[in-house]
Amino acid sequence: MSVIVQKYGGTSVATTTHIENVARRVIATKQAGHAVIVVVSAMGKETDRLDGLAREVGVNEETFREVDVLMTTGEQVSVALLAMTLINMGHKARSYTGGQVRMLTDSAHTRARLLDIETDRLRSDLKDGVIAVVAGYQGVDTEHNITTLGRGGSDTTAVALACAIGAEECQIYTDVDGVYTADPRVCEDARCLERLTFEEMLELASQGSRVLHTRSVELASKYQMPLRVSSSFRDVPGTLISKEDESMEQAIISGIAFTRDEAKLTVTGVKDVPGIAYRILGPVSDGNIEVDMIVQNTSADQTTDFTFTVQRDDYDRVMDILQKVVDDIEAGEVQGDAKIAKISLVGVGMRSHAGVASKMFKVLSDESINIQMISTSEIKISVVVDEKYLELAVRALHSAFELNEEGA
Ligand code: ASP
Ligand code: MG
Repeated sequence: MSVIVQKYGGTSVATTTHIENVARRVIATKQAGHAVIVVVSAMGKETDRLDGLAREVGVNEETFREVDVLMTTGEQVSVALLAMTLINMGHKARSYTGGQVRMLTDSAHTRARLLDIETDRLRSDLKDGVIAVVAGYQGVDTEHNITTLGRGGSDTTAVALACAIGAEECQIYTDVDGVYTADPRVCEDARCLERLTFEEMLELASQGSRVLHTRSVELASKYQMPLRVSSSFRDVPGTLISKEDESMEQAIISGIAFTRDEAKLTVTGVKDVPGIAYRILGPVSDGNIEVDMIVQNTSADQTTDFTFTVQRDDYDRVMDILQKVVDDIEAGEVQGDAKIAKISLVGVGMRSHAGVASKMFKVLSDESINIQMISTSEIKISVVVDEKYLELAVRALHSAFELNEEGA
C-alpha cells in the first residue's frame, strides 16, 4: 500500500468552496492508486481569531491548558467539513482530532512536542479504502489533556504522521507554488526552486523563511521523509525537499532567508576574564530565553563588548536581566537595538566553493550597507544589518548571486 500524506494550510481551506477543491485533489490522489491521509489547518485566519479571543480573556501560565482547548477547535471544524465533503462526493472518509488518533505529546501547553503516534486506527482505515482526515497542530498528553504544537504546527503533524506510517511522500499544500529563492514579496524575480536538500530547508526555515514549520523539517530530515511543498490552487510540481543526491546539480547558493524578528543587545566594557560569557548569558538562559548570534572578541585593553541577538518579543525582558548583570560584573552599560534584520545565504554548494562570504560582503559594501554581526555554518552565512536596508540587501544579493537564473 502506497501512502501519501497531504497537508492543506489555512488559506487552502478558507471556505467550503476551497474545501471542495481540496476534496477533489485528495480524491484524485486516491484514484491514482494511493491511500491518503489528509492533515488540515483551521479555516483561513481562524487560529488568529481564537488567539485574539484568548488574549481578550487573558493568556498566562495558568490558562495555557484552556488556551489549547480553545485553539484546537479551529482544526476540529475543518476536519469535519472536509470529511463531510469527501463523503458527499461518494468517498469513504473519517475525521480525527489529535487526541482520537492519539498523537501523544508532552504536557508543555501551547508548544508541546510529539512523543508517539498510534497508527493502528489509521492503518485499518487506509486498508478499508477510507480517507483519514486528521486535525493538524494538536495532540494529547498522557493525562488526556489537549495540547498544541505551537503556531504553524500542522506541518509537523503531517510530517510526523508520514514518518510514523511510512508514507511515500509528505505533501504540503499552500498558497504559493513552492519554496522560493527569496520571499517574492521582497524580491520580484525570486524563482520557485525545484529541489532542496533537508539541510538547506532546515537552515532556510530556521533563518526566517516561513514556508514550513522548522520542527517539521527536522523530523523529515531525521527520518529521510521526502517533502514536497506545492500549491493547492495551481497544478505545479512544487519544490521537492529530499536528501542530497550525487546527481543533483549543485548551486552554490540555493536561497536567501531573512527575519525582522530579532533584536540585538550589547554589554559594553566587559572584563576579559574566564567565566564572563556565562555570567552574562546564564541569567538569560535561566529566563528561558533563546540566544541566537553571539559576538565577542578579545581586547587590547582587557575589556571587550559582548553582543548577542534574541527574539524581538524577548527584548524587554533581556534588557531587564542585563541591567542587573551589568552591576554584578561591573561592566559598562547595556545598549540595545530592536531595529535590525538578519539576512542569511543558504546553500550546500558553499561547502565546495570558497569566496561566498567575501562576495556577500562586497555586495553589501557596494550598497553602503553596514554589517553589524556575522555568523556562519557549513552551508549558511548570516549577517545582521539595519532593518531599513533589508529589502535593498536581499535584492542586491539575489541578483549578485544570479538566483533568478535557472541552475544558478
Ligand atoms: N492553525 C494553526 C496556526 O495557524 C496551525 C497551522 O496552521 O499550522 O498556527
Ligand atoms: Mg503554515
